[in-house]
Amino acid sequence: MNTGAGMDVDLVITNARVLTMDAGRPRAEAVALRGGRIAAVGGAEVAALAGPKTRVIDAGGRTLLPGFVESHLHLVLGGAELVQLQIGGVTGFAALKAAFLDYAARNPQRRLLMAQGAAYDILGAAVTRHDLDRVIADKPIAMMSPDHHTVWANTMALEQAGILRGAQMPAGHEVVMGPDGTATGELREFEAFGPVLALGGESHLQLGIATGGEPDPWPDAATFAADLDKVAAGLAHCAAHGITSMVNMDGNRYTCALLAALEAQGRLTARVKVPFHMKPHMDLSELERASAMHAEFNGDWVRSGFVKMFMDGVVDSRTAYMLHDYPGVPGHRAAPLFPPGRFDAICAEIDRRGLQIAVHAIGDGAVRQTIDGYEAAARANGLHDMRHRIEHIELIDRADIPRLGALGITASIQPPHPPGVMDFPLNTMETVYHRDRWRDAYLWKSLKDAGAPVAYASDWPVTDVSVMRGIQAGLTRVPFEGTTDERLSLMETLHAYTAGGAWAAHFDDITGTLRTGMAADLVLIDGDIEAIPPHAIGATPVALTIAGGRITYAAETFA
Ligand SMILES: [Zn+2]
Repeated sequence: MNTGAGMDVDLVITNARVLTMDAGRPRAEAVALRGGRIAAVGGAEVAALAGPKTRVIDAGGRTLLPGFVESHLHLVLGGAELVQLQIGGVTGFAALKAAFLDYAARNPQRRLLMAQGAAYDILGAAVTRHDLDRVIADKPIAMMSPDHHTVWANTMALEQAGILRGAQMPAGHEVVMGPDGTATGELREFEAFGPVLALGGESHLQLGIATGGEPDPWPDAATFAADLDKVAAGLAHCAAHGITSMVNMDGNRYTCALLAALEAQGRLTARVKVPFHMKPHMDLSELERASAMHAEFNGDWVRSGFVKMFMDGVVDSRTAYMLHDYPGVPGHRAAPLFPPGRFDAICAEIDRRGLQIAVHAIGDGAVRQTIDGYEAAARANGLHDMRHRIEHIELIDRADIPRLGALGITASIQPPHPPGVMDFPLNTMETVYHRDRWRDAYLWKSLKDAGAPVAYASDWPVTDVSVMRGIQAGLTRVPFEGTTDERLSLMETLHAYTAGGAWAAHFDDITGTLRTGMAADLVLIDGDIEAIPPHAIGATPVALTIAGGRITYAAETFA
């Protein structure tokens, strides 16, 4: 096919190993871009489209892919956290204290010294406020677990947040209390640690995940501008990892407003989906706000159109809702955050409005109840192309596996999350999963083989946003003892980070595949990804990221 004699293309990438993720033409050697779109995909005839004004990039045999679709992250929180203390990998009191003191010395103006990435076993025993008082006592300090579901705070932070003597909390959220009637320092789930985070002066950025509400008052111009810079820092971080589209898994109208402003300023380097966050206490009528966000933000770069809910917490703090009691904790299986009947009604109403649903469900009980809700929506409105999705699915009952495929439910999965695979410790398997359930934990291939569409993600800042590290995690995962190999193939893995993610986000009309007419969203890997040993993929850099025809990242070594 020769569409382009004399066609004025902006950019041609030649000599590439192009993996298009388009079944009609899976491989090519060159791609031509014009006006933010893909003008042609092919071989020598595409390279020949270059005219005198065309920029030509010789890929040198590197792999060219559709820009990565990060299917589950928290952009605003991740961007804001980039400047906080990072203590992933830190263990022991001495190292923790040294890290905090160093950070405190460099950040004297901060009202709250906040650390990210604290392992649950960082001190080898349950962390208390007294431990953190021995780190720093005369300033509020706190640290967040990698999964972002637990915070530990010192006494001054608890005091200033007004929760040292406890606080009434909605079900599933807990200010853990000691026998002396004061808080131990451990705060489980967002409503419990929200007051501590608020000491940092950024609580208006956390509303999207905390309450689903809007900042009141609406931030002034200076705050808005500072927030734009935080989001832009997050976007730049993602662009360096080849990401050109993302599904932000928390949000409100303010999040959309920030992104729309960045778009208007030419600073938006990825397409972003933003949900309305439906909380258990909200009335069905609040979904009118979700419909309004969908109507207001429905462009190629900033889109709403979906509703996020949390059905449970996480395994480490034993807040994930299980069908069976946790090992060693008779009678405790946590509880769903939505009552079943009410959840069914909410799902039916969201679906009736033509909005997509994404539910965080980690325990097998939460997964089952979420599927039940989607099934109720299909009963009420008929099964239509809403592509409802379940986030995480860390444990599933065997009987529920085929139900995802049957209902067209996307399994939105994070390859870095299973214990022992990337940054999370393997001992979680021993402490929170019964040995006979290991075979039902963190299933990827079983879900895909049973017909579920699969999208891959990092859940940044829960784990490193690096897609290359995620691909490595997906390809090198060792089965838990006595379980099946749940890895997808390299091509299936790449699909889950591109076309699969685009489909799950309703972005497949624009991005996720390289074919004529699609948006010029591409990532050039610094090597031939099919020849790189799986254990070396994570360390392989991205050479070039292009979003909407614009270069959003170029490695120094490549530029
Ligand atoms: Zn998340």
